[in-house]
Amino acid sequence: MSAVELVEIEKSFGATAVVKKLSLEVKEHELLALLGPSGCGKTTTLRMIAGLERPDTGVIRLAGAVVDQGSTFVQPERRGLGMVFQSYAVWPHKSVFENVAYPLQLRRDGDVEARVMEALGWVRLSALAQRRPHELSGGQLQRVALARALVGRPKVLLLDEPLSNLDVALREELRGEIASLRAKLGTTMILVTHDQGEALALADRVAVMNKGVIEQLAAPDVVYREPATPFVAGFVGGANVIEGDVRDGRFVTGSDSFAVTASQSGPTTLVVRSEDIVIGSEGTPLTLQAKLFLGSTTEYRFTLGTNVLRVTGPSIEGLKPGSTASVMMKAVRLFPR
Ligand code: ATP
Repeated sequence: MSAVELVEIEKSFGATAVVKKLSLEVKEHELLALLGPSGCGKTTTLRMIAGLERPDTGVIRLAGAVVDQGSTFVQPERRGLGMVFQSYAVWPHKSVFENVAYPLQLRRDGDVEARVMEALGWVRLSALAQRRPHELSGGQLQRVALARALVGRPKVLLLDEPLSNLDVALREELRGEIASLRAKLGTTMILVTHDQGEALALADRVAVMNKGVIEQLAAPDVVYREPATPFVAGFVGGANVIEGDVRDGRFVTGSDSFAVTASQSGPTTLVVRSEDIVIGSEGTPLTLQAKLFLGSTTEYRFTLGTNVLRVTGPSIEGLKPGSTASVMMKAVRLFPR
């Protein structure tokens, strides 16, 4: 049985369709990431699962039971979900302990102290139970929010950009913590993020959203290696996405062209990852615009038609902006337009 099931969900605000006939199944114990740019409808989708927003049409099921369809609507607090938002949403006047205890008290659950301390243990905050939020760092505040969302043992945890307000080091740390919590508790999780690194690192499957639809739903390595659309290729891993034409076995853009293996001809979008391009003695001569040292690798930016072609690889002595080098694409994907 699926933990969460959306069937042809639609949602408009005024005349703007924000989520369009979206169907999705999240399996039990799965971590699914909803990944996409700002405004693509991922938060709205999550809010509909939570019951904070209602779809115009479609069905939402949780563990096989309908929670939203026509006149059937199960209130958010009765859905058995936990939620963590980007803005910590921790009560400033309550201690860490009281914040985490609150959902249990609302439900009049017993054994509050032991359960709160257990949840604080999960997020390594046991020693700070009596602190007030103003005495905590951003990372600690978000761990309080995580403990509060998990203390009631929800079947599904909804995470809306939970790491976006944190600096890079804390983000990495909390990312690891979410992964280990999931391994420990087996909670099904849906993570909304615009950060592809976060989605690829944490998720079992990634749903890449664009303009209210899921363009691809697959495991992280598949989304990365075999993007279903030029949008997915550009958004996930920042592939080069170049529009042109295929003619006589060559991809032509502006006055430049590359040999390609193509069964089709005509208007085509070419997708190639920067690491799948080789600078050497063979291929198409292009002019180097810029060279950026990135630490473990160097990025070269070449002029290609009206585009910039980004190539990453080892540093090449003597290759300087303004000079010409031969460039060969090893693995391209072609999408007819
Ligand atoms: P972000 O990361 O910026 O939140 P998102 O992909 O999560 O992006 P949504 O928050 O779902 O996107 O919003 C999708 C679109 O719907 C946006 O254009 C947003 O302005 C609009 N929108 C969201 N909520 C409402 C609302 N209550 N009323 C009107 N428009 C809304």
